[in-house]
Amino acid sequence: MTNHAVVIAGGGPTGLMLAGELALARVDVAVVERRATQALAGSRAGGLHSRTIEVLDQRGIAERFLSQGKVTQIPSFTMLPLDLSDFPTRHNYVLALWQERIERTLAAWVDELAVPIYRERDVTGFSQDDGGVDVALSDGRSLRAQFLVGCDGGRSVVRKQAGIAFPGWDPSVSYLIAEVEMSEPPAPGIRRGDKGVNGIGPLGDGKRMRVVLVEQQLRQGDEPTLDELREALVAAYGTDFGVHDVTWLSRFTDATRQAAAYRERRVLLAGDAAHVHSPTGGQGLNIGVQDAVNLGWKLAQVVRGTSPESLLDTYQAERHPIAARALRMTMAATALNRGDERTNALRETVSDLLKLDQPRKQYLGMISGLDICYDLGAGHPLLGRRMPDLDVVTADGPRRVFTLLHEARPVLLNLGEPGALDAASSPWAERTRPVDARDVGAWELPVLGAITAPAAVLIRPDGHVAWVGDGTDEGLHESLSKWFGSPRRG
Ligand SMILES: Cc1cc2nc3c(=O)[nH]c(=O)nc-3n(C[C@H](O)[C@H](O)[C@H](O)COP(=O)(O)OP(=O)(O)OC[C@H]3O[C@@H](n4cnc5c(N)ncnc54)[C@H](O)[C@@H]3O)c2cc1C
Repeated sequence: MTNHAVVIAGGGPTGLMLAGELALARVDVAVVERRATQALAGSRAGGLHSRTIEVLDQRGIAERFLSQGKVTQIPSFTMLPLDLSDFPTRHNYVLALWQERIERTLAAWVDELAVPIYRERDVTGFSQDDGGVDVALSDGRSLRAQFLVGCDGGRSVVRKQAGIAFPGWDPSVSYLIAEVEMSEPPAPGIRRGDKGVNGIGPLGDGKRMRVVLVEQQLRQGDEPTLDELREALVAAYGTDFGVHDVTWLSRFTDATRQAAAYRERRVLLAGDAAHVHSPTGGQGLNIGVQDAVNLGWKLAQVVRGTSPESLLDTYQAERHPIAARALRMTMAATALNRGDERTNALRETVSDLLKLDQPRKQYLGMISGLDICYDLGAGHPLLGRRMPDLDVVTADGPRRVFTLLHEARPVLLNLGEPGALDAASSPWAERTRPVDARDVGAWELPVLGAITAPAAVLIRPDGHVAWVGDGTDEGLHESLSKWFGSPRRG
């Protein structure tokens, strides 16, 4: 039997991001992945939202994605493009990039970090005891790990075997999605039908089109037929446009479910394994990658023994509400996408509201992930929110705050008297990176606006602020202990 500290079931976007995070924290992690390569049967997710690009920037790898993608706007509930360009972030846009490119880029990073990936085999089951988890593979081998993380998608074997309930809502509508050629392709665009929105657009290779079509009857099952595709085209457009050379044809629904628990002792869930919903709003991949960034450093500290297992409970406490609100948003969007007269009236009313500044910001804050605030108690508005990527001047010269997070270690950023926090933080010197800096940027948070400049901040490896100083070190020890373990541990 081969041992690893952590085994990840599934090397999709979530599993790969988590593998990278654990490897940066020097944890012995391995991934088990069914597919031989990152090749995907179809295009699936089409982009990255601001906060996801920011978390990649925090690790110094955002440019790898930006160089391949195209900057675009965010569609609203009603397909009305909304402008994010006034948001205080370096990444105030959506990056259009197909999922396969995203996965290949993450896989290349994980490969550089020397994470082993056991390919072309499944995790088929596991058993856990007080000391670890035995993970069974489809090739007859097994792996022993301290923790198993199920990043194995919506039909997660890990979730099912852990006996974790997956409550939610059955689908109300199904869509066909296909990559095709057409003898007489229509102009790209969307067309609203009674049950939802149809869309046809170029795939970018000059020949093929991506087609998304609402079905007149709710159907389930992954293997729709060409006849069903033609039928849906005729229902929506009155013609099938001479569709041929179908290279991918699949079906998705608006089934909406969320795992009742993200952890069952030594087994955790992240990404689609923990939550599924309609793709409208482009949330799934983004939330999965951000789940991984929230979980990675916590799991690393528990594996190393510097933090107690209870730190893992904060993963569910912080991330479950984020997916829950995405589920609610996608259900609302599905309802608003129907085409009957009363829904049209409702959609126009919501559209009018979203033209107002504050509702627009509120909505875009949620979709982009920039408004996320973990409940770390009352205090300065930065507490629990993501640290902005300010330009600061350190002893080593000018830096962006995100560059200080590249190693995925906590940063104690002192913006007051140099050395003011040294004594208070010294018992944690091995675990945190103290940086004295002069702040040269303006303090402004997405949705909230301008805030008072803090004297110091303790930034977790995921970029969220765990403590805000007011010129004293009050509360710093408690926060360091809570998030990075008592100095006596480990
Ligand atoms: C049509 C469509 C459009 C979408 N558009 C967007 C979008 O624009 N933006 C967005 O953010 N999201 C979008 N999504 C959702 C997005 O594709 C998913 O949320 C995302 O892929 C989830 O990533 P994951 O790593 O959690 O799971 P998955 O991508 O499902 O990855 C799971 C991995 O585990 C492997 N696996 C499964 N079972 C096992 C096993 N037992 N053992 C070993 N390996 C296993 C699989 O091969 C796979 O590689 C879209 C989805 C669809 C269907």
